[in-house]
Amino acid sequence: MSADHPPRLRFAPSPTGFLHVGGARTALLNWLYARHTGGTFLLRIEDTDRARSTEESTRAIFDGLRWLGLDWDEQVVFQGANGERHKRDAFRLLERGLAYRDFTTAEELARQREAAGDGFRIDRARVDLPQEESDRRAAAGEPFAIRFRVPDGDTAWHDAVHDWIRFPNKDIEDFIILRSDGTPVYNLAVVSDDIEMRVTFVMRGDDHISNTPKQILLYQGLGAQLPRFAHVPMIHGIDGKKLSKRHGATAVGDYAQLGILPAAMVNFLSLLGWSPGDDTEVMSLYELIRRFSLDGLQRKAAIFDPKKLEWMNGQHLSLDPLDHVEPHITRAIVDAGLATAESLHARREWYEQLLTQLRVRARTTLELAQQARVYFEPTVTYDEEAIAKFWKDVPTTRSMLQATRDRLATLDTWTADAMEQGLRALAESLGVSGGKIFQPLRVALVGVTASPGIFDVLLLLGRDTSLARLDAAVRWLDDASGAAAS
Ligand code: GLU
Repeated sequence: MSADHPPRLRFAPSPTGFLHVGGARTALLNWLYARHTGGTFLLRIEDTDRARSTEESTRAIFDGLRWLGLDWDEQVVFQGANGERHKRDAFRLLERGLAYRDFTTAEELARQREAAGDGFRIDRARVDLPQEESDRRAAAGEPFAIRFRVPDGDTAWHDAVHDWIRFPNKDIEDFIILRSDGTPVYNLAVVSDDIEMRVTFVMRGDDHISNTPKQILLYQGLGAQLPRFAHVPMIHGIDGKKLSKRHGATAVGDYAQLGILPAAMVNFLSLLGWSPGDDTEVMSLYELIRRFSLDGLQRKAAIFDPKKLEWMNGQHLSLDPLDHVEPHITRAIVDAGLATAESLHARREWYEQLLTQLRVRARTTLELAQQARVYFEPTVTYDEEAIAKFWKDVPTTRSMLQATRDRLATLDTWTADAMEQGLRALAESLGVSGGKIFQPLRVALVGVTASPGIFDVLLLLGRDTSLARLDAAVRWLDDASGAAAS
């Protein structure tokens, strides 16, 4: 690859499940490199394993990538459609004498394996028949597989993550490239497709390192130019074990349901195996593209910490442009049954105020929708702890809330300034601090001890609702003291 040829990269998932966070991370790093360099990012669905591949998982991969905003260039390639070319490539290797026919039947192979135990290796001297015999048996219609004849020597490559990796070829068994039923094995299909797609850079999980020498041998056998390779680390849970269902949600799609923003997910995933080189953590997609470099790829296992993801999400929720996060929050609010998208649109200005107040206080859009509930529903439920903390003394609280109500009711204008003046004057006349008024008032308005600033809450609720909530609180306290007396 030279500087004037931007790289062609690909993401090549097998559609046998949902888009896993590990796959999404690999896709993202490929995408970032392609977008940083002005290269090309291709998508290939590796659906050769017909029994395990499903259309549903293919759709989940598309949906997951789209949700993350990882668009691909050119048409999606379906590996399963390329069987004929895979076969032709296997036969080309056979014709060039770089591979040979293997007539061993499945039963015979199983018998040999069993007899040899763990140390079983293909005995080339036995399988690789003299050309004449091989041709004769093939002509007679005997089924055969095609095996690659691994040459002597070493296979090495310069990996963009691991530097030089070298495998002695004697450790690589002559491997099947085409099964006797005419289907290609994985390594052949990948190489054949990567050549056809003119992929110049292969970036994938380091669980594929042991496939790479075989693939390099196939490139050489097919006379194709080698791509560059980068093997990025596996993702582990915080217990150091390979990420699995035990660690919680592992499908990217699940995170949308959990109230995570795609921008936060992308940012979080980018740091699993890559670092910008300083301690910057919160980055927009644009910044990630700008800062991405191969030098920042890490060798050590990446740790998936769900707490950090939530933190990251909170950062994006509060710092990203409002119009980026708004659709995601709106979905959570609509899904929670609080409002319809149309009704929010109709109260645009009010809704933006609400989001501005709430987005700095939530870590997920679900949490935000939960906090927003009180601004949509007609009544408030008072939290036990809030009552115990700020409404302990019922008669005093009652008269305080009544006085607060009366004072607010007399305000000429419903503005933060007017509220502040009115309530400060009230506190002074009662000889108490502002907090003694604001805290019970907050419980009356929103039912809990945490909320945006009290004047912001009053503004968001509006005059009528605020006064109605104070009336309801006074009634509730009356009932509470009645119950205590009887
Ligand atoms: N289909 C392979 C996988 O899902 C990836 C192949 C590759 O990237 O070379 O692990």
